[in-house]
Order: sequence, then C-alpha cells, then structure tokens
Amino acid sequence: MKLRVRVDHSTYSALKEVEKEYREVLEDAMNYGLSNKTTSFTRIKAGIYRSEREKHKDLPSHYIYTACEDASERLDSFEKLKKRGRAYTEKPSVRRVTIHLDDHLWKFSLDKISISTKKGRVFIFPTFPKVFWKYYNKGWLIASEARFRLMKGNVVEFYVVFKRDEPKPYEPKGFIPVDLNENSVSVLINSKPLLLETNTKKITLGYEYKRKAITAGKSTKVREVRRKLRKLRERDKKADIRRKLAKLIVKEAFESRSAIVLEDLPRRAPEHMVKDVKDKQLRLRIYRSAFSSMKNAIIEKAREFGVPVILVNPSYTSSACPIHGAKVVYRPDGGSAPRVGVCEKGKEKWHRDVVALYNLKKRAGDVSPVPLGSKESHDPPTVELGRWLRAKSLHSIMIERKMTEMRV
Ligand SMILES: [Zn+2]
Repeated sequence: MKLRVRVDHSTYSALKEVEKEYREVLEDAMNYGLSNKTTSFTRIKAGIYRSEREKHKDLPSHYIYTACEDASERLDSFEKLKKRGRAYTEKPSVRRVTIHLDDHLWKFSLDKISISTKKGRVFIFPTFPKVFWKYYNKGWLIASEARFRLMKGNVVEFYVVFKRDEPKPYEPKGFIPVDLNENSVSVLINSKPLLLETNTKKITLGYEYKRKAITAGKSTKVREVRRKLRKLRERDKKADIRRKLAKLIVKEAFESRSAIVLEDLPRRAPEHMVKDVKDKQLRLRIYRSAFSSMKNAIIEKAREFGVPVILVNPSYTSSACPIHGAKVVYRPDGGSAPRVGVCEKGKEKWHRDVVALYNLKKRAGDVSPVPLGSKESHDPPTVELGRWLRAKSLHSIMIERKMTEMRV
C-alpha cells in the first residue's frame, strides 16, 4: 500500500543522501553479480559487503543487505526477460531506485514512521487512507519489509506491505480423510462418505481434443493459433475447480475442528490410475492436476485457516478391508461397477474410494469402529461438479441430500 507523505527539507535531504549511496551499492552489487555470473543474494553480499562498508562508513549497514537483495531480484528478473527474448539491453540498468528497508531500518507506529539515515533516524507523518484502516482493523499485520521512493516537491512515497498472520494449527477433535482420484475427490464426514466429481481427467482430455483441433496442420508460432490456445484457459478453469473444492473441504474441517488426512503421494505412484491414457505428456498433466496440484491446493488452504493436515502412507489404502484387514477384490474385467469390490473374508461389498477413506482415517490414528454393510460403503452418494461448485458448504450438500432421501 502506497502512502504519500510531504516532508520538510532536512528530512528530505537526509533521505536523498541515503538514496544516493543506496544507488551506488546497488550498482556495485549488480556489477558483481554480472561479472561473477550469479544472482544469489548470499554470494553477492559475501562478495561486496566488506568493500561497501569501507566506502559507505556512516550509512546504516543494513542498507547494504537490502541493496544486495534488490540487486539479486533485479538480476533474477533480467535473466528471465533474457530467456524470453524480452531484454532490450545487454545488461540491466538502474534507472529508478526504490529503497528497500528491513526491520532494522524502519519502525512503524500509527503516529509516525521512522527511517534510519546517515544522520540518525528521521520521521515521516503519514495520513492513512480508508483502505489502510480496512486492512489494519481486520487484523492484518504490517510486514517488516517496506520501501520508499523520493518524488519531486519533498514528497516521499512509502510502501507498506500487509500480511496475514498464519494461525497456529489447533488440536484436532476428529478427522476428515480426503481421497484424490482422476475424476473425483472423496471425503468422509462423520462416517458419511461423499464423492465429489471433479472430472479432471475428462476435462483435460477434452481440452487436449480442442487443442489438437486448433493446432492441426498449423504451427503454434502463428499468432492466431496462439491466441485461440490462450482463450481455452485450461489452467485457469482447472485451478478454479481446485480452489473451490479445497475451500469447501478446509471450511468443513475448520468448523468441526478436524484434521484433514491425505495420502502422502509419492511423485509417480498413482500413474497406474491413468494408465489407459497412452500419451505420456498427457498422462502427466492429468496426474498433476488431479493429484499433486489438488493436494497442494488443500494444504495451502488449510495453512491459511490453521487446519492441521496429516499425510499418511498411501500403500494398499484401497485394497485392504477396513473392518477385516482382508483383501478387497475388484473384478479384473471391471464389469458394470469397476470401482466396487468384495471383501475376501466378510464378503461385504466396498467402493474403492470408501475403502481408501476409512484406511486413511485409521492410519491417521482414528480407532472408532467402521460401520459394516451400509449402502454407502459400496454406493457412496455422488455430487456432480456443477452442484458442489454452487454449494456454500459440504454441510449444506449433506443436509440437502438427507432431505431428498427422506422425501423419497
Ligand atoms: Zn471385510
């Protein structure tokens, strides 16, 4: 957030002095990085700190750190531009300087902000815009890194960064296991399984088909082709589904103070689940969006809410009966219900995802009994993509289901 502050002449000139020397350190740091072919902050700092300290004796030493960081970021983004062929100069040039501050170089309070200079601390007195109070009063914290830039007419533009404090995970009172599959995500809430369709595989294959139709016989270097491909927005659409689903699951866990239990998927393990897809690249794409990206989306959301996540060993989670420990046998030919198997010992029927859910919960340390022979164990309620996308919570989906069942 930008704060514009007019300051008196002596404050401005103290900051001007800092700007001048900061720019010199920054230029040296960048030259060092370029001639030593590194963009690493640590290496640049190690390379120039001592000599810069000699050159700038009264400059607070932390400006050398932040200038090195600044240089490392600038060199990094220059490298990226160069790789994409968008760099117009041989080496990056320093035009405008925004001085980076760390927690040693500035202090925040609501009536004044202090900034270290060669002449000791100077103070600026900002008036805060409405939007500042909106964040400030909602419990956002001000980050220890800030920046300022000197403008004409004794004006300082000061940038503060708001950040969310991550809540500490609570002690879980229960577990919500989550099983990821190529076309669905299943959850178990109060011993009730729920299968939420994501159609990740179907959607990915559909996009592949569209992409092939666009590029057939044409080069992807042609602008029109590139534009059409961009308009597909496959990544955005899939990310939307993931974010929404992660939020539904995490909110449910948060409200019942439960931990989320997920398979700690090794990189390539569930590839057999998409083995009918011949194209290796495509298989990898499906795997990434259905498994690893989905898992990451849930973990990220959980961290934001302070919901604990337990990662468990994924081996045999869908092949061992959660009641008898015996093998659950799935029909090799698939049949009409390829995901339904029979327990070798108790002969009861199981849906593959429900087996996985109970086993995940057990592996997380839950010892509560598993209900035997319920209809849901082999025929879990399925919620279509369009329906859960519109739902406010998983809870509301379950209540809605109960109502329709009662009416039936
Ligand atoms: Zn059994």
